[in-house]
Amino acid sequence: MNRATFAAKAYAKVTTMETSVQFEQTYRQLPERFYSNEYAKAASAPSLLAFNEDLAASLGLPKNWIADEEVLALLSGRRQLEDPPPLSMHYAGHQFGHFNPSLGDGRAILIGEIVSPDGRRFDVQLKGSGPTTHSRGGDGLAPLGPVIREYLMSEFMFRVGVPTSRSLAAIATGDSVYRERTEPGGILTRVASSHIRFGTFQYFAARADQDALERLVTYVIDRHYPECAAAEQPALALLEAITLRTARLIAAWQALGFIHGVMNTDNMLICGETIDYGPCALMDTFRADQVFSSIDQGSRYAFHQQPGIGQWNLMALADALLPMIRGDQDTKIALAKGALETYAPAFQAAYAAQTAAKLGLAHEEAPQESESQFQSLLVCMQSNQLDYTQTFIELERGLMEEAPVRESLKPWFDDWLKTLPLDKDSAIRAMRRANPSIIARNHQIEFAIAEAYQKNDLSRFHGLLGAIKTPFDRTHLESPFATPPQPEETVLRTFCGT
Ligand code: AMP
Ligand code: MG
Repeated sequence: MNRATFAAKAYAKVTTMETSVQFEQTYRQLPERFYSNEYAKAASAPSLLAFNEDLAASLGLPKNWIADEEVLALLSGRRQLEDPPPLSMHYAGHQFGHFNPSLGDGRAILIGEIVSPDGRRFDVQLKGSGPTTHSRGGDGLAPLGPVIREYLMSEFMFRVGVPTSRSLAAIATGDSVYRERTEPGGILTRVASSHIRFGTFQYFAARADQDALERLVTYVIDRHYPECAAAEQPALALLEAITLRTARLIAAWQALGFIHGVMNTDNMLICGETIDYGPCALMDTFRADQVFSSIDQGSRYAFHQQPGIGQWNLMALADALLPMIRGDQDTKIALAKGALETYAPAFQAAYAAQTAAKLGLAHEEAPQESESQFQSLLVCMQSNQLDYTQTFIELERGLMEEAPVRESLKPWFDDWLKTLPLDKDSAIRAMRRANPSIIARNHQIEFAIAEAYQKNDLSRFHGLLGAIKTPFDRTHLESPFATPPQPEETVLRTFCGT
């Protein structure tokens, strides 16, 4: 593996009043059949909804970068980068179990990569900036509602420590988008470690393009998994490394109560970050088989299915990587299977550590029973229709003797007290680090979107955004944003807004 191949070949500079930002495109080192050149559709009257100053700072951009007209123009498609222009990536994917060999970025374009001051490389994409080569009849646009949802959800996920793509800016375009009704349009500036998907490998495997697969493996190892370069079988080591990251990612979702909603292989990133905040939601009342997505008719992506689907998706990835593994057919398959077998124990270990922390135990001191204890808590929550997030807060307050736990939790609570290490204070500290007091609740997101649509009022959006930035802060318990929905407020269905 030659690291020199990674030097950026193509870059465009965005020079604004104060700064000169270099947008590289190392993705162009890959052959032209990996991408298409694209241009954004210019928003007719862009206005800023939100700019993520903290993210900007971590990328080495000025906190007030967006104050520069040129930057708003860039992020709303009014100013085009040239030499090189933006690109859309080619990929395939299993959608609800069915393979589609030609998907690709239909409503997103990569404007370039930024290297942060700490040396990490990030893709910067515009999502909703108009049709591309891959739009397949779609308009390539995004209504403002899904842009607001993604901005809130991705920021929340980041703040609770779940690997995720992030949102740098949300912009209203001033143009209409036609769905079931006319909606205001938006563009989200999305930042991820890269946007290479399981489906990117599947795209070239489906075409039996060995050369492309080889180059992609090299690129991905170089960019995300340099430790695999020295392995005897780099593609196999890569498969195992992606398996581990995916297992950890999904364990974090399960511990948090996050339902992705559309875990197609084109929505799974090789770098192990959460992406594609379409019909996703965080659970209020715990129900293991909860589904929100309006398009998930068969409940394929229900909450309790997610760990198994993660493994299923990795199997699809393994299939695509098989031509890159050396050996006769039986050997290749046995090796790939071996790599996939690391999934279950990695998931289990990560989930056990996170759930033990939620119960006030450091993993090292977690008794063997803590896993079954957690399972029995879930059963108790489900049969009593308890709110997932608030239950842990209730346990914490019970432990602090601030408020007694409800009757239905009492037997479980008493058992738990017996297994806790003597030191209550350290248990409480662990719980405060592991259990958010506020989450980006679905009904609150819907309220924020409704106010933006109906009254052009963003105060609820900004209020909610401000609160979820410090999800472990217990002062939020007084906030209306932290409260579970009233029965009539409960959101039963989410839509991806495509
Ligand atoms: P998703 O399941 O939301 O990730 O989308 C699946 C595929 O449909 C991807 O290739 C998207 O780029 C494409 N797509 C979704 N929405 C649109 C749209 N409004 N216009 C064009 N392509 C879209
Ligand atoms: Mg997608």
